[in-house]
Amino acid sequence: MTLFDISAPGTGRVVGRVVDMTRTEVSETVENLRAAAGEWASTPVRQRVQWLYRFRDWLLDHEDELAEVLQDETGKPWAEANLEIPYIVEAINYYGRLAPQQLRSRTVRRHGLLALGKGHTLHWHPYPVVGIITPWNFPLGLSLLDAVPALLSGATVVIKPSEHTPLTVNAVARGWTAIGAPPVLAVCTGGSTAGGAVVDSVDFIQFTGSSATGRAVAKRAAERLIPYGLELGGKDALIVRADADLQRAANAAVWGAMANAGQMCTSIERVYVHEDVYDRFIALVTAEVGDLRIGHDDKGYRFDIGPLITAAQLEVVRTHVDDALSKGARIAGGEQSVPRPSSPNLYPPVVLVDVDHSMSCMREETFGPVLPVMRISTDAEAIALVNNSRYGLSATIFTADVTLARRMAHRLDVGAVNINDVFANLYTLALPQGGRRESGIGTRNGSGALFKYCRPQAVVTARIHPRREPTWFPYTPLRGALVHRAARLLGARDLVRRLYR
Ligand code: NAD
Repeated sequence: MTLFDISAPGTGRVVGRVVDMTRTEVSETVENLRAAAGEWASTPVRQRVQWLYRFRDWLLDHEDELAEVLQDETGKPWAEANLEIPYIVEAINYYGRLAPQQLRSRTVRRHGLLALGKGHTLHWHPYPVVGIITPWNFPLGLSLLDAVPALLSGATVVIKPSEHTPLTVNAVARGWTAIGAPPVLAVCTGGSTAGGAVVDSVDFIQFTGSSATGRAVAKRAAERLIPYGLELGGKDALIVRADADLQRAANAAVWGAMANAGQMCTSIERVYVHEDVYDRFIALVTAEVGDLRIGHDDKGYRFDIGPLITAAQLEVVRTHVDDALSKGARIAGGEQSVPRPSSPNLYPPVVLVDVDHSMSCMREETFGPVLPVMRISTDAEAIALVNNSRYGLSATIFTADVTLARRMAHRLDVGAVNINDVFANLYTLALPQGGRRESGIGTRNGSGALFKYCRPQAVVTARIHPRREPTWFPYTPLRGALVHRAARLLGARDLVRRLYR
């Protein structure tokens, strides 16, 4: 058994060790789940809900220690490390309420001639084993947000957390065992080998991560002919119209760009501001950024921005900023106004001006505390720039004219639009969340979240039993004419077509 260390970002302090699982170990884990799958699928939905409710109580009882583990492995400020469990608690309550009603078998209304005399029912059969592969930026939130509906729908679940942040997911899986729940939730730790082995052994794969890895996962899933969902990268934009509440827009832009040190799929990574308010907006965001406190947290609220997850991630950010500066961009307010902490993974947040789409900071995913702001003249120009991207996760519009913003939203080729708000759609489990183009395939949350982990089964029952149906053998002119005439009578919507041919 090979173990590897998990280090706190920035400090390098070893905060845990996990197994680097081999393909064999992963497939054994999945086989164990498969053995438990039948019983879990036939457990009444209300009983599954009760297990999830007990799990919720365990999460709440261990909230602080879980948040500490999460902070250790991610380096997030305490305010952010503390947010993931309430989010999951809400998901358990929300889907727990929906599951018994949504997942029950139901009778479906008949229609058409051939359905006369039949009973129609629709059943939901869970996939035996759902694999969930997740990134490091929200280790718990992104794992359980998919695991909760999958478990409620009756699937067993294996989570493959990021090799950078497996500790919190391991801890909550121990919680599932501690409450005495059936062995239907497992964790496989490791990197791409373990991830690939999960894709190779499960019945449905839900992947969250980069577009490049998502593409590899999709290819492998296609070879196995298993269904998959992909939640991938983004390059989200924020539009500020001239009539916007500028102070709120500026605060939203800075939080949207810098929360989690800019390491969110939905981070605001480019801002398009109307020329009439551009200078005032830049002054506001620069002041806001100047007030941000950067550092390693101490389970308190002393910092707003923590370290980037790895030195490699910091290098990406540095490269994007350097590329922009070399092509004529400037750091608003002057670089020297930004504090420069000593830790290697801390990147001082910057506002970039004089940017354009020739620069990687406007096209590629930066994933760091960088806010590039571009001047625009019209709504049409802003819409075209937002859509000029290979990503299409979400977008944000600030304006006093909400009716116009809703019309603009229809023209934005993205999965979600927030108007006068930022990230608000992420907190709404009732709405689907998903990206377009290279940002993903399929959605999480929304009314289809429980059905996603099930296969529908249609059951049709003959309720009257003549020796043969009119459409069966033998084919005769009389029976053919009768069937046709009856179909026409039912199908046509006017008397002439009903009676004459
Ligand atoms: P990543 O693609 O490097 O890794 C994601 C996961 O895939 C990890 O668990 C990794 O071990 C695993 N993996 C790597 N190679 C694999 C393979 N060949 N087969 C199967 N699994 C494999 O992504 P990351 O760096 O951990 O996360 C950052 C990315 O995630 C960003 O692009 C970000 O935008 C995206 N993200 C998207 C969402 C969303 O909901 N759309 C949310 C958060 C993050």
